[in-house]
Amino acid sequence: MEYKRVTMDKKKIIAMVAHDNKKPDLLAWAKFNRNLLTHHTLVATGTTGLLLETELDLPVSRLQSGPLGGDQQIGAKITEGEINFLIFFWDPLEPHPHDPDVKALLRIAVVWNIPIACNRASADFMISSSLMPNEYQRLVPDYDAYRTRSVPGTVT
Ligand code: PGA
Repeated sequence: MEYKRVTMDKKKIIAMVAHDNKKPDLLAWAKFNRNLLTHHTLVATGTTGLLLETELDLPVSRLQSGPLGGDQQIGAKITEGEINFLIFFWDPLEPHPHDPDVKALLRIAVVWNIPIACNRASADFMISSSLMPNEYQRLVPDYDAYRTRSVPGTVT
C-alpha cells in the first residue's frame, strides 16, 4: 500500500460527539482541557455542541443532532478534509436508533487515519501528546489504486 502525506496544522479541527450518558464525561474532560482546546477549532453534533459552548464559553460550530444526521455530517467532513481529530464518547451499554451512523463514523475515521478518542483516558493521552501543538504529517493510504481498480463484468 502506498501512502500520501496530509499535513495537519498546529490548529486542529476537532469534532466532539457524546451520547447522552457520556455527555457529563465529555463536558468534564473539555472543561479540564479548556486552555488546550482554545488553540483549536471545535465542531460538534447539535446537543453536545450546545452543552460545550455553554460549559466552555468558546465558539463551537454545531451540526445536526447525532440521530438526525450529525454523525454523518462529521463523517462527510472527515472525507472532505474539514475535520482532522475526533473525540467520540459513544455509549457501549445502550442501543441507539442511529447505531449504523455510529459505526459508519468510526469506520470513516479509520479510512482517513484520523485520531479518535472514544473514552476519557484516550482523550487525555491524545490532548496531552507532544504532537498535539505541532504540525503533523498524517499518512493516508493512496486510494488511487482502489479508484481505478478493474470491476468484474465491466470493461475499462
Ligand atoms: P447530540 O448527538 O450531540 O446531538 O446529542 C450525539 C449522538 O447521539 O450522536
